[in-house]
Amino acid sequence: MGNCAIVGINWGDEGKGRMVDLLTEKYDVVVRYQGGGNAGHTVINEFGKFALHLLPSGIFRKETVNILGNGVALDPENLLKEMDEVISKGVALTPDNLKISNRVSLLIPWHRDLDELEEARLKDKKFGSTKQGIAPFYSDKYQKKTILAGELFYPEKFRSHLADLLEWKNLSLTKIYGAKPYTMEDLEEWIQKYCERIKPYVCDTGAFLKQAQKEGKSIMFEAQLGSLRDLDYGIHPYTTSSNNIAAYAPIGSGIPSAKIDDIVGVVKAYSTCVGEGPFVCEMFGDEAEELRKAGFEYGAKTGRPRRVGPIDLVATKYGVEVQAATEIALTKLDVLSYLDKIPVCTHYILNGEQIDDFPFPAALAEATPVIEYMDGWKCDVSMIRKYEDLPVQARNYIEFIEKRIECPITYVSVGPERDSIIYR
Ligand code: GDP
Repeated sequence: MGNCAIVGINWGDEGKGRMVDLLTEKYDVVVRYQGGGNAGHTVINEFGKFALHLLPSGIFRKETVNILGNGVALDPENLLKEMDEVISKGVALTPDNLKISNRVSLLIPWHRDLDELEEARLKDKKFGSTKQGIAPFYSDKYQKKTILAGELFYPEKFRSHLADLLEWKNLSLTKIYGAKPYTMEDLEEWIQKYCERIKPYVCDTGAFLKQAQKEGKSIMFEAQLGSLRDLDYGIHPYTTSSNNIAAYAPIGSGIPSAKIDDIVGVVKAYSTCVGEGPFVCEMFGDEAEELRKAGFEYGAKTGRPRRVGPIDLVATKYGVEVQAATEIALTKLDVLSYLDKIPVCTHYILNGEQIDDFPFPAALAEATPVIEYMDGWKCDVSMIRKYEDLPVQARNYIEFIEKRIECPITYVSVGPERDSIIYR
């Protein structure tokens, strides 16, 4: 069994959490390699329904070791909230099944404040941040102005490093935004309440992964968000502040030498997008509202209504390419069952020309979609488990997408539950 990555092909919210939860059974280790509390993976299983933001989705499997890699924005306060929630539902969490990289940077409460203050300053030009402090956190990381979880084992150095950061950070808080400064007492409280509680889980996860590889164990890399939100390959500046593409997975996990044998790209049967930025195939009015309701498209973290549209094959093909996906899981096919005719965005029109290739971000706002309509199947497919039992219209839809994105669709998800899946 080799390693695999489960990644989002579009704007995020593709249903990666349900795919990781389904496939973890086959893997010994699940690693989160980027992002933080800004996106939520929904997992429904025998323990209940969970919106996981930081915890790897393999946390529900007894034998699976879950790792928060060095590329993650580790917010101790939010992580503990999540840990307490899963523990309260009967899931055992110990340093044996949950490990935090000693090289991961800690998200400090001021990152959340700065996120909020900057969004408020931007007013109608805001990015639509989830205000979890992610952009200020990664900016600081690039400036080498963060503190690593492993420094907790050197308490004196930890505090003096934090004091230096405090002095610097208070300048931005007070002088740029006119906000209240932090004190060392505030930070001491943060250390005692949150950092000390996560400390038992902090270890050299790179060494653990190296050993696991040596022993022939298989690793699953779990991504957050999707290709179009990747810091380098997404729709700049409406991206997240980290790299979520599979190529970054070994780096953000702590095992840069790891080879990924299989990259499962998760694609939703229609498009959704949270936050600001160009969304070429966006639908509005009643048509949009109907789809939003059918798919329950409200953010897992914020509850915000998601923007919706038909599947966008231009963006999806680009997403497949940048992820180097080897196979596709198509999710939420069941949601489209109410439609007589299913819209599909096949191309864009840009500067009067029909194009196939995803344009440069600055040109996206000028692009308009070319929509084709396919026959709907108009029946409930949520109980179907065999591909050949799907109505011919549904199979036509899947095969049309597959041909255009040039990647095999090997899983079709027809419901949120673990077993609502068709293996193809
Ligand atoms: P993620 O961040 O990519 O894991 O996606 P989210 O958790 O934000 O969104 C996926 C949502 O769709 C969750 O509420 C899932 O339970 C739900 N879901 C996933 N797959 C399916 C499916 O095939 N059908 C339906 N109806 N819901 C699904």
